[in-house]
Amino acid sequence: MNNLSDIGTIKDILSRHGFTFSKSLGQNFLINPTVCPKMAEMCGADENTGVIEIGPGIGVLTNELCSIAKKVVAIELDKRLLPVLDETLGEYDNLTVVNGDVLKIDLNKLIKDEFPGMDVVVCANLPYYITSPVIMKLLEDKLPIKSITVMVQKEAAQRICAEVGTRMSGAVTVAVNYYAKPELLFNVSAGSFMPAPKVDSAVLRLDVLEKPPVKVKNEKKLFAVIKAAFAQRRKVISNSLGSGLSKSKDEIVSVLESAGIPLNSRAENLTMQNFADIANSI
Ligand code: SAM
Repeated sequence: MNNLSDIGTIKDILSRHGFTFSKSLGQNFLINPTVCPKMAEMCGADENTGVIEIGPGIGVLTNELCSIAKKVVAIELDKRLLPVLDETLGEYDNLTVVNGDVLKIDLNKLIKDEFPGMDVVVCANLPYYITSPVIMKLLEDKLPIKSITVMVQKEAAQRICAEVGTRMSGAVTVAVNYYAKPELLFNVSAGSFMPAPKVDSAVLRLDVLEKPPVKVKNEKKLFAVIKAAFAQRRKVISNSLGSGLSKSKDEIVSVLESAGIPLNSRAENLTMQNFADIANSI
């Protein structure tokens, strides 16, 4: 087995396949040998677990996952990497590589077809241009998965893992906390990748909740409220909700008053229950 985090090996494999990195596909490959074993261990995969990986690249993380999980399905958009993966990971009979866009694949069907009777987790070094859409798709599709362990840009990780109701929180914090319990696991420096990105990264894990922490009548409404509240996060909530949801000031004021939320609160002051109360009464 090649050492897939060794720069010389990576360069050799890629040049033999005539591969050049695509910036627009977020192709920064890991060259720090300590990161993938740690990610694979912390994602909770074991011999009974199925793992979905998004964007295997040349297979450095996939290699670790295949050695500890029952089965791995790796979804890679870039066709040029398929012969590379065939060379680097061809010896594993518990790996299936799917060529496609993770945002377009029916993941519920994939799990049903590929992982019958198994616990399933997601583990990936995500392409950063689609961090939030991928995470939200994985959560909103209500997949039968235990957890999502992903490497993302450090600032995105800090935002996702912030406490709801604090300054660091954003729409993504509240949305993620509706479905999962986030935990920031460890930071990864920009120099751990080839080519090195301009920003540092971090690995986080989302443990998927069995049921949401609050009851809402209509989830779409909840997410519309969250989006409107944070779209103008510096404004007081009575103003941002009015313009974001196209409601009259009077209606918003009466909703906030009946939920016991001070009119001068900002999005970052609200609790998950506050967001649910607003969504339920608007
Ligand atoms: N896992 C490898 C590693 O850690 O070195 C590569 C990670 S690289 C940051 C992101 C990978 O995602 C690339 O291989 C890229 O081609 C792939 N990718 C980009 N957009 C994708 C999409 N929409 N669906 C699936 N894979 C995608």
